[in-house]
Amino acid sequence: MALIVQKYGGTSVGSVERIQAVAQRVYKTVKAGNSLVVVVSAMGKTTDGLVKIAKEISASPNRREMDMLLSTGEQVTIALVSMALQEIGQPAISMTGAQVGIVTEAEHTRARILHIETDRLTRHINQGKVVVVAGFQGISSIRDMEITTLGRGGSDTSAVALAAAIQADFCEIYTDVPGILTTDPRLVAEAQLMDAITCNEMLELASLGAKVLHPRAVEIARNYGVPLVVRSSWTDDPGTWVTSPKPQGRSLINLEIARPVDDVEFDTDQAKVALLRVPDKPGVAARLFGEISRQKVDVDLIIQSIHEGNSNDIAFTVTTPILKRAEAVTAAIAPALRSQSHPNTDEAEVMIEQHIAKVSIVGAGMIGRPGVAAKMFATLAEAKVNIQMISTSEVKVSCVVDAAEGDRAVAALRQAFEIPENQDRSRKGSQKPLLSSPTPNSRTLREATLTATLTASLLTTPLPVRGVALDMNQARLAIRQVPDRPGMAARLFGLLAQHNVSVDMIIQSQRCRIVDGIPRRDIAFTVSRIDGESTQKMLTQVASELGWGEVVLDNAIAKVSIVGAGMVGQPGVAAKMFEALAHNQINIQMIATSEIKISCVVAQEQGVKALQAIHTAFELAGSEKFVVPA
Ligand code: ADP
Ligand code: ASP
Ligand code: MG
Repeated sequence: MALIVQKYGGTSVGSVERIQAVAQRVYKTVKAGNSLVVVVSAMGKTTDGLVKIAKEISASPNRREMDMLLSTGEQVTIALVSMALQEIGQPAISMTGAQVGIVTEAEHTRARILHIETDRLTRHINQGKVVVVAGFQGISSIRDMEITTLGRGGSDTSAVALAAAIQADFCEIYTDVPGILTTDPRLVAEAQLMDAITCNEMLELASLGAKVLHPRAVEIARNYGVPLVVRSSWTDDPGTWVTSPKPQGRSLINLEIARPVDDVEFDTDQAKVALLRVPDKPGVAARLFGEISRQKVDVDLIIQSIHEGNSNDIAFTVTTPILKRAEAVTAAIAPALRSQSHPNTDEAEVMIEQHIAKVSIVGAGMIGRPGVAAKMFATLAEAKVNIQMISTSEVKVSCVVDAAEGDRAVAALRQAFEIPENQDRSRKGSQKPLLSSPTPNSRTLREATLTATLTASLLTTPLPVRGVALDMNQARLAIRQVPDRPGMAARLFGLLAQHNVSVDMIIQSQRCRIVDGIPRRDIAFTVSRIDGESTQKMLTQVASELGWGEVVLDNAIAKVSIVGAGMVGQPGVAAKMFEALAHNQINIQMIATSEIKISCVVAQEQGVKALQAIHTAFELAGSEKFVVPA
């Protein structure tokens, strides 16, 4: 007998027949001796339909009214599912987010859950009823009673948060695919199903565009150790488990906003190699990293920035002992690249920076919470530490700094994020995976056995790349000629965080240019496309005051990413990705990596082709083809 939360997505409740099928599954689960909370989405494409109507009335509808409108979709489904259950003899009751007491921030259209009242829920459960809860919605406070929504796709988050709050044995997400696949089966029919994936890998995939799970749902599962499985609502197949580390005994107060950072890490003994002024055309990164991998040089972070004109900079970090080899390989390749470059561009040049260190903050949901990175950069600026390179990912933000400033940086960050001193994760030149091993918590014997099997299967199949994701809803912003001094990243991220704009890739150009006697760099970053124009406007307004140049927006981009905890210490992975793109004549506009992901920005019209090429290159395709139900 278990306490289970089941969540059914839009397609799974898209018609009367589908709702009846859901009722049957719920009924069977109860009859097997379990207690159940069911979370549902709006039927089919209802939410899209409501957004469309609103847009016909107003180009930028009031966000409070938007929540009032969109929350109606789920309210229809809870009533119908409840009726369907009652019809087959299963006692059930529907409840809105407000009725349950899912209390959120007052941030309309993107509210985070603060806490969940469990009294009413447990009372009904104890009376033998199935409680059918509206996903995606909450209430700002018991006093204000403002209806809020969590952001598109947020029903997954409602379900996992409820599971954490009532301490359910596990949470099942029922959807229109058999589980988590190596990529979106709508774009690559041969995508393969995974038995299990670590929550860190899933967090990255979800935040990089794999919409099968809402990233915040994975974040909660990770933080509270909620066993989570994604399954098809059409079959009884086991689906994919998302494995979490041991639960940290967190408080359920401020559920989604408390303690974003778990740890501060420090890597010393690092060096940076930059190749400046390489031609902006397909195949350059592939050539460089192909040679680097043949020479078994293990690189850590890689960035490629765009530049005014027609040349790029590529930079990567290595540990000091292999710097000489890395430098030699890069120097050997530079002339070949130069001869290809446009006659008017300057020559490619190798630049070495020694005595650098990498400081990182580790947690979950970093990209979704722009304030966290902003706080990191502000802390470093206050400590007068200049940031040379930035790598952002959903589970980690890293900054490359001068080695001499490393200790100061770490101490300041520990203090700012309240990380105890004894939690010492500093390392010399090593590159450890983010999580040593997936150890999902388990509450029953059945769960424990399952966990052991999953852990074994994850550990015995160290595939470097587990999944590939495509995000076609991104825009790129570039700020020209930003003065190179401590505090610039802090200013920029502070502004973005104030406006709640999440940034994924952020890259500073390697070249410094002196303008008006001040060394300056370009900074480029990607944001959600809906934030593109307003962010450009906002930054343009402050540009001259901050001494920045022009702010340029490009909407016609796509971001393609590979994710896998096993890519740490595997030099060939990046090369293989870049080669797959080069073979298909796809130019890489930007590269950014973290320990468990590599993302490339390409032209929008090449996005799908890029995804397919990379999926094939890593031999992720299976023999079976998936057809997603209409
Ligand atoms: P629901 O309405 O059930 O919440 P969603 O449409 O939000 O369903 O998410 C399921 C969809 O996610 C699938 O139909 C699929 O097209 C898409 N998807 C994207 N990436 C992946 C992936 N790696 N694995 C499985 N599905 C994926
Ligand atoms: N109905 C909401 C949406 O379409 C929430 C969800 O389905 O998760 O975004
Ligand atoms: Mg969804």
